[in-house]
Amino acid sequence: MDSARPKRKTTVNVNYKEKSELDLVQEQEREANVIKKAAKKPEPSKPETPTKLAGKNKSQDKSQYVPVDEVVPINFQPKCDQEFNVLLDLKGAKVENNVLTLKDGTRIKKGDFIYMICEPPGEPYYIARIKGFARKEKDDATKSAKNYNFEVCWFYRPRDLNRKSPDARLLFASLHMDECPISSFRGFVTVKHRAEIEDLDAYRMIPHSFYFEKLYDRYMVKMYDVLPTIKLTNLPPNYYKALTKRYEYIFVEVGRGQDLLSDPKNCEKCMQWAASSDSIQCLRCQKIYHLLCVDPPITNKPKRGFAWFCAACNKELEEELSEKRGHMLHSGLPSQIAASIKDEDSDASEDVSSSQTPMEVESRSESIQTNETELPNGKLARYEELAIAFLEADKNLSFEKRRELEEWPYRYLGMHAKLEDALDLQDRPYPRAASRLGTKHQFTGIVDWYGHPVVYYDDSDYPKARSRKKKYQKEDYVAD
Ligand SMILES: [Zn+2]
Ligand SMILES: [Zn+2]
Repeated sequence: MDSARPKRKTTVNVNYKEKSELDLVQEQEREANVIKKAAKKPEPSKPETPTKLAGKNKSQDKSQYVPVDEVVPINFQPKCDQEFNVLLDLKGAKVENNVLTLKDGTRIKKGDFIYMICEPPGEPYYIARIKGFARKEKDDATKSAKNYNFEVCWFYRPRDLNRKSPDARLLFASLHMDECPISSFRGFVTVKHRAEIEDLDAYRMIPHSFYFEKLYDRYMVKMYDVLPTIKLTNLPPNYYKALTKRYEYIFVEVGRGQDLLSDPKNCEKCMQWAASSDSIQCLRCQKIYHLLCVDPPITNKPKRGFAWFCAACNKELEEELSEKRGHMLHSGLPSQIAASIKDEDSDASEDVSSSQTPMEVESRSESIQTNETELPNGKLARYEELAIAFLEADKNLSFEKRRELEEWPYRYLGMHAKLEDALDLQDRPYPRAASRLGTKHQFTGIVDWYGHPVVYYDDSDYPKARSRKKKYQKEDYVAD
C-alpha cells in the first residue's frame, strides 16, 4: 500500500500475518469452554477484587461469583455468526473488463465498496471504492488475477482526519487513490450518501453499512459538501441530464449546495434557466432576469449589497415616492430616488456598504434604468449547447455504461468551476481555488529607479476591468 496514506498510531507489536478464520473460531470455542468450566467450579476462597461486573455481582450470593477478568481475555468478543474476514482464493481468478471473477463465481467489480486490510493490521479495516484494476506488468496481457492490483479510491474515517466522532459509521469521501494488492481485500461493505438513507438509525444497525456526506481533499486541506446529482433541481434540463449521466455525485464548497437544491430559477423574460452568476433578482418582486435579458443589458453584476429593481417595480417605487413626498421629487434621478428609499427602509439599508467607489455607483444607476422592451434572445446558453451536443454524441451508451467509463464518481462543481467544465471529457474532477493573479496578490507599486524607467506590458490578454484601469493611469504618469 502506498505510504502516503496517514498511518494509524498503534502501540502493539504487529504481526502482519492475520489469523485465518478457522483459527479465530477455534480460539473462541476454547475461550467459551474455559468460561463454562470456570462457572462450574467457582473459587470461593479467592478474595474479591473490583471488576467490571462488580456492581452486578454485589447483590448476588458470593458463591456464584466468577473472577471474570482472570479467565476472559481483555479483548474477548462473542463469536460472530457472520463471516467477517473474507480472504480471497485467487487461484484461477480472472480480471476482465474491470471485473474480477473468482473460481467460485464471486464477482468483484468497479464501483464496489470493499474492506481492505489496514496498515498495520489490528486496526479497523480501510474502506474503499474500486476504481478499476491495474496491471502489475504493463506488457503482460494475461488475465490472471495475479497480474493485477486494485485501483481504489479511499474513504476516510474521522480518526484518519484527526476528528473525533461518536458515529462509527460516518465516513468522508476523498479523491485519494492508491494501487493495492488484490490479496488485501477483506470483504464487501455498503457505503451510501446520507441523502440516500431514509432512516439513519435503522441503517446504522445493519452490519457493514457506512454513510458519507462530505468529501475531504488533502491538497486543499478542506472539506466539501457532496450532493448526489440526481437530487439537484436548480439546473437547466439538458445540462441536468448530461451531468447525471456522467457523475453520481458533485461536490461544492460547504454551504454552497443550497442554491443547486432549490427550486429551478428561470428568467422572467425568456423563461430559460438562469445561473446565479449571470442573472439578477429584483429586490421587490423577487423575479429573476438574465443580465443580458434586461434592457439595456447589464455587463457587470452589481456588487453584493446593492439592490436592483426591475422596470415594473422601479416604476411603482417612483409612484409611491411621488405620493409620499409630493411631486417635487418626481423630476429627480431614479437612482437618487432609489437611494433615498433605501435610506428609509432600515432593513434594506443595513447591508449597503458605506464606501462607494465611482465605478460601483455607476453600475448601480445603470442597472436601475431598465425596461422590458427587448425581445428575448433565442440563443441557448453555452452549457446547454454543450449538454445537447454531449447527449447526442453519447446517446448509444446507457446510463450505467456511461458512468462505468468515468474514472471518478465525484466531480467538483463549486464556486471556482464553470458549469460547462463538467461536460468537458478532458477536464479533471479535482477541486479548485481562486486565482492568485492580480493586484490583490501581486505588488504593483514599483517606483522608478534612476535611469531605469518602469516598463509596463500590454495586459489586454487578461481582460479584467479594474486592473487595466489602474495600469493605464500609471502609464500616463510615466509618460509625464
Ligand atoms: Zn433570460
Ligand atoms: Zn421587480
